[in-house]
Amino acid sequence: MTHINKEKKNLCSFDKSFSAEIFFNKPSKYRDLERLSNYKGKLISEGSNLSYAPLSFEKESLSVNLKNFNRIINFDFKEKEITVEAGITLAELLNFTLKHNLWLPQLPGYPLITLGGAVATNAHGKSCQSHGTIRNAIKNILIFHNKNGWLNLSENENKEIFDLTIGGIGLTGSIINITLKLEEIKSKNFITKKIKVSSAENCIKNLEIISEKKNSFIYSWNMADNLQEFGKGFIFENTIDENSYDKNEIKIPNLKDMNYLKSKVTIWNNFSIKLANKMFFILNNIKKNEKKENFLNVIFPFYGKEFYFDFFGKKGFLESQILISSKNIQSFFDEFKFLFKTYKPNISLFSFKNMSGEQKYLRFEDNKICLTFDYINNKKNLLFMNKIDSLCEKYQAIPSIIKDSRLSKETIEKCYPEFKKFKDLINAYDKSRVYRSEISQRLEI
Ligand SMILES: Cc1cc2nc3c(=O)[nH]c(=O)nc-3n(C[C@H](O)[C@H](O)[C@H](O)COP(=O)(O)OP(=O)(O)OC[C@H]3O[C@@H](n4cnc5c(N)ncnc54)[C@H](O)[C@@H]3O)c2cc1C
Repeated sequence: MTHINKEKKNLCSFDKSFSAEIFFNKPSKYRDLERLSNYKGKLISEGSNLSYAPLSFEKESLSVNLKNFNRIINFDFKEKEITVEAGITLAELLNFTLKHNLWLPQLPGYPLITLGGAVATNAHGKSCQSHGTIRNAIKNILIFHNKNGWLNLSENENKEIFDLTIGGIGLTGSIINITLKLEEIKSKNFITKKIKVSSAENCIKNLEIISEKKNSFIYSWNMADNLQEFGKGFIFENTIDENSYDKNEIKIPNLKDMNYLKSKVTIWNNFSIKLANKMFFILNNIKKNEKKENFLNVIFPFYGKEFYFDFFGKKGFLESQILISSKNIQSFFDEFKFLFKTYKPNISLFSFKNMSGEQKYLRFEDNKICLTFDYINNKKNLLFMNKIDSLCEKYQAIPSIIKDSRLSKETIEKCYPEFKKFKDLINAYDKSRVYRSEISQRLEI
């Protein structure tokens, strides 16, 4: 039997809620990947392991890290198409395409995320109302599955596996390369406008009006540290400043690792969250309503602000991202606020954006409003979040499995109409169910 090189390491999900000692392997040649055909155990692909939830590892699985596969294979400027290996980071990809005034607007918010990870989670960016998710930019995918071999995937070839792979959390095998449809970017400078909102209801109303605009990156920041001011905050709108001139070529930093998980001290608590919110609100209230911003600040808002995650300390945090229809949002919030009174959860981040797209399988995508909440990881907040799961089931909302590490199979079954179909198709395609992660085990896929 061919020997598979395995090393041991400790891995932790980005929210720090799950850790395990795992075996990993970092192939650098296609024939190293092919050797995995002889591997008898379970596997899962890994990018930068920047997922909030434990998606790219599991105690019993061998994590196959694909970051050595980061080359640009083909670039067609005329057709605006690029084929790249899946381990390329968003920083590496943009540092090449931006030189040609091309990019893809559906980028998730951190430069070290790999393209393979973004495709496997069907990631989205701030402009998900006008540009949808990364699915819209994918033309072709090449995967390697240790039992099914090499497969070319597109709308015209192996369409069913193509569909299962986008947002398929790595369960169809390793994505090796991806052909993307790029878009022209007229400038790398942005203009940011902001509008003050007085409540969650007021924010939803204003978002609906502004989000009609094409090519805008629209999201909000709202307070959730007390009920009286719940939802008070600002809507931010970033638009590309087409009239500006790019003085210098921009270089997106491509660090080896994210500067995170260093702090052992917990800063976020009820008092510090209130104080930070007050200060952020006051600062934004006195600043001008329009300003110029650079590419890095707008597209990768957490770059340089990693301390926000560190401030949760050793126990980390929990994020809940929920898609809900405009028809149900008011009733959802009425009950949310009622529960808030009882549980008094510690919410450090609350935000809205609108999304467009088609919900299918386990993809976090729909024509709905996207809510994001970050919680301190403690008992009280976990109880509150469990109650919110019931609201999601009641109001046909979709909680993100990519962001929220604690979601149960029962909730996902009730909220995702195609959960069973996804599971059946994965089982039919991979009869021995080789590719497994903590999440696939938790959801019993
Ligand atoms: C600061 C920060 C901001 C973020 N902002 C956003 C955002 O704005 N929008 C958004 O949608 N998400 C966002 N995310 C989440 C992030 O986009 C996803 O979790 C993404 O999957 C992380 O990529 P990764 O390379 O770290 O993949 P990993 O976390 O290593 O893996 C994620 C999943 O992809 C699979 N996978 C990875 N590479 C491959 C491959 N080559 N072949 C097959 N499967 C593979 C893994 O098996 C796993 O299931 C953010 C994360 C962070 C830390």
